[in-house]
Amino acid sequence: MRTLLVQLLGIALVWLAMLPAAHALPREAVVPGGLALVRLGEATQAPAAWFQGKRVAVLRDGQGWIALVGLPLRLEPGTHELRVIAHGEETAKPFRVAAKRYALQRFTVPDQRKVEPLPEDELRIAREQTRIDAIKAAFRDEPSPDLAFRLPASGRLSGNFGLRRIINGLERNPHAGIDVAVPVGTPVHAAGAGVVVDTGDFFFNGNSVYLDHGQGVVTLYCHLDRVDVNPGERVAAGQRIGLSGNTGRTSGPHLHWTVLANGTAVDPRLFLTKAAK
Ligand SMILES: [Zn+2]
Repeated sequence: MRTLLVQLLGIALVWLAMLPAAHALPREAVVPGGLALVRLGEATQAPAAWFQGKRVAVLRDGQGWIALVGLPLRLEPGTHELRVIAHGEETAKPFRVAAKRYALQRFTVPDQRKVEPLPEDELRIAREQTRIDAIKAAFRDEPSPDLAFRLPASGRLSGNFGLRRIINGLERNPHAGIDVAVPVGTPVHAAGAGVVVDTGDFFFNGNSVYLDHGQGVVTLYCHLDRVDVNPGERVAAGQRIGLSGNTGRTSGPHLHWTVLANGTAVDPRLFLTKAAK
């Protein structure tokens, strides 16, 4: 009898281990630059979903499934639709996006060439953009991605996501991530487990690391002094991937951290459901 109980317990444990782990979901903010969590109901197989032609992450949510939709900063508020295919059947799931006004920030960058690039810089910027677009378009299937992130470096948050920016008096793209004020040489850790998809020295972002966490969720670490990982490498959550620095277009040493969902930059703080290391 006792042996049978032990065996049954063993089978139950093996069965539990085979189930995808239930991870904490990111927080919802249905505004431009935020995330919509769209409930897809129950299905034996994971449904697939697309927003504006881009595949979005679909995660387990109890008995059902939930789509995690990255909302571009430039998205018009109002009703939008998610295209869903479940069990071979296509449906549209509407959701409402509220307006959000982001603050204006003015600052100066000592290197004017980083604000007004020369013609030869434009060629380099275009080449790098092709590389970045390829990363944004990729979708790696990962049944149970760990999206409970921790802040990659401990320090004061010195720049919020979404700030509309005037750099050296010129209007530039809004801030696509958050900044952490840290001196050059501060260890930078992977926000979550993932695969290194690209590293390199980029014109605006300086020395950078792109980590793919699965299902179109990618994190980007910029202005690094040193990169300690290589493309193709698997990294654990919290693993050191480099040292912070002051490379690329900066006004001083800091870590810039971006989170991309379905190829769009969203507020990284929505993913911070774990304490910093
Ligand atoms: Zn930044």
